[in-house]
Amino acid sequence: MNNEKLQARKTQVIARGQGNVYPVYVEHAKNAEIWDVEGQRYIDFGTGIAVCNTGHSHPKVAAAAKAQIDKFSHTCVMVNPYEVAVELAEKLTDIAPGDSEKKAIFVTTGAEAVENCVKIARAHTGRRGVIAFNGGFHGRTNLTMALTGKITPYKNLFGPFPGDIFHAPFPIECHDITVKESLKAVENLFKVDIAPTDVAAIIVEPVQGEGGFYQAPPEFLQALRILCDQHGIVLIADEIQTGFGRTGKMFNFEYSGVEPDLITMAKGIAGGFPIAAVVGKSDIMDAPLPGGLGGTYGGSPVACAAALAVLDIITEENLIQRANDIGEIFNQRLSALKTQHPDLILEVRNTGSMIAMELIENGDAEQPNIALTQAIIANAAKYGLVLLACGFYGNVIRFLPALTASNDIIEEGLVKFTELFNKIS
Ligand code: PMP
Repeated sequence: MNNEKLQARKTQVIARGQGNVYPVYVEHAKNAEIWDVEGQRYIDFGTGIAVCNTGHSHPKVAAAAKAQIDKFSHTCVMVNPYEVAVELAEKLTDIAPGDSEKKAIFVTTGAEAVENCVKIARAHTGRRGVIAFNGGFHGRTNLTMALTGKITPYKNLFGPFPGDIFHAPFPIECHDITVKESLKAVENLFKVDIAPTDVAAIIVEPVQGEGGFYQAPPEFLQALRILCDQHGIVLIADEIQTGFGRTGKMFNFEYSGVEPDLITMAKGIAGGFPIAAVVGKSDIMDAPLPGGLGGTYGGSPVACAAALAVLDIITEENLIQRANDIGEIFNQRLSALKTQHPDLILEVRNTGSMIAMELIENGDAEQPNIALTQAIIANAAKYGLVLLACGFYGNVIRFLPALTASNDIIEEGLVKFTELFNKIS
């Protein structure tokens, strides 16, 4: 079987809406490398969209999952619960930012975690409104699509959306959107669209993921905390892409010193097993009545066992520090490219190992170079690389290496990327 034949079979039976970046079919993957069905090797700078922070099939994650499967794989945590779920909740409530007493719930996907935050915030406040930010991404279900601040491809064709969702600009220094402007826009919503006493929650990604890897300035998150406290609004941190060491802290909110009320966790939580969580202040988390939250697969025991292994690995292999070191290596190398191509590269930025390169035309920050970005992504596989794009205009290359990747692999990948960039640009 080869990639071309598999892609032809896939196109016949899987709808185009569930597209794939690369017509490269995985045969196996190990740590930071992937091998396809034709025996080609790729260095993976995508980690399945920020999921395999601990690398593909880390031996400890694989062993924990296998051991759990040998005991049992499903009873439903809402029918007969089990210790791995309790232990994981104990650990997550312990590592979540801030000192307040916390509780957790388990679900299966990131979007479900976001939806549940909104349910919990509404139950707690008795209010209806939710404020999110332009360019933010929160998922593909109806409510999370409505929260997502980008039409194409996420919302186009899919309305109607639930009401009472409002958007404000996200502060982005390199595009001259200041913290002051963003905060003023939120205050403006209170005058134009919804009274603050009707707002249940404000949801924010501390680093916009799909939106382009823009770090929220600490003073912005601090100001949101004050605003939420003033008006009794629940502050939701969407840490689905930023969590579990990815940005050089266990959770990105730690940089600001702000304690959110609710935190979404998914992706990096379990090294590739589908599990997500909401962790938040106990009094808020306990607002919904018994049976109001959950789902058949939420907190799968296999995924819980994998997640416990991931937490051990992050500590044992010092992956939080490693995220910063890897980010530094990428930033230095990509900044050298920026010096050579100042008209094409607006900015190289990283928070830990959330690393991005924003591409423009004619040295103009407001002319996104979508064609160059697409050409780089389209040709990456030929250079043995897995790369992803992101950004409000789709003009940002994002690098999400495994935090367990060796310096040699990173160096090899960066050499390939440099060759690719110089060839295409
Ligand atoms: N929020 C953020 C910040 C995300 O990055 C994502 C996934 N890209 C989601 C929510 C949705 O997660 P999922 O795809 O697991 O539903």
